[in-house]
Amino acid sequence: MTDANTSSLPRLYVDSALTAGTSVAATEGQSHYLLHVMRRGAGDEVAVFNGRDGEWSAVMDVVKKRHVSFTVHAQRRPQSAEPEIALLFAPLKAGPLEFLVEKATELGVSALIPVITRRTVVNRINHRRLEAVAMEAAEQCERLTVPSIAAPRPLDEVLAEWAADQQRRLLFLDEGVARDGGATPIAAVLSGKDRFAAILVGPEGGFAPDEQDFVRRQTYITSVVLGPRILRAETAALAALSCWQALQGNARGPG
Ligand code: SAH
Repeated sequence: MTDANTSSLPRLYVDSALTAGTSVAATEGQSHYLLHVMRRGAGDEVAVFNGRDGEWSAVMDVVKKRHVSFTVHAQRRPQSAEPEIALLFAPLKAGPLEFLVEKATELGVSALIPVITRRTVVNRINHRRLEAVAMEAAEQCERLTVPSIAAPRPLDEVLAEWAADQQRRLLFLDEGVARDGGATPIAAVLSGKDRFAAILVGPEGGFAPDEQDFVRRQTYITSVVLGPRILRAETAALAALSCWQALQGNARGPG
């Protein structure tokens, strides 16, 4: 859900197909937000999107106690392709993880893929909560999609699958090379000819040495460094995503 600026058009993610004349129901959370945070009522306009049919204007038509529905009117923006960049990350504690999911969504991540590494302390994620966080961030930042969030799986399993399609290169945020000083800076790699489809960031405890060696040996992986400082996992992931968007994504500008 968008912020509480009452002059802006509320923007909501819905599951249903969007075509002119369709009636769409808001969730209970969205209804609460519209009625009590944005103070909207029957006849007011909202924008809706579903990740497939672009963005549409809709008008609130039925306001029951806690449930709002709309009639969809006209398309405001057609669906357009968004750059594909996945983030492979070790699950963190709830607070930093929600922060990461919210900010990565704003920075245009297309898929969030939790991976269990040797030193991962948190093995589960609250999937529903993270989906809600991603949805709200997508509503707020005006993207037309919500990133997918996978179930956590062991790193080697995820990498084995990735290896089956070696055209898709993966950027490894390698704090080991950050320490030894001989590392390739992320900007140099992203300005080169290789295109990257994913970023891999480690857990708070970093990667175990043999795990790090294994990752570095994969032919589709490039190790990069984000500078000489050791960043928290969520900082490293967001810094890398920003660099990727600036150099290979749609933050480069049109075309
Ligand atoms: N506690 C670990 C550091 C983990 S930092 C240690 O002392 O070794 C968490 C993750 O952020 C790392 O696994 C790495 O993927 C990423 N990271 C942090 N700082 C980085 C840097 N300067 N360059 C590249 N990756 C970095």
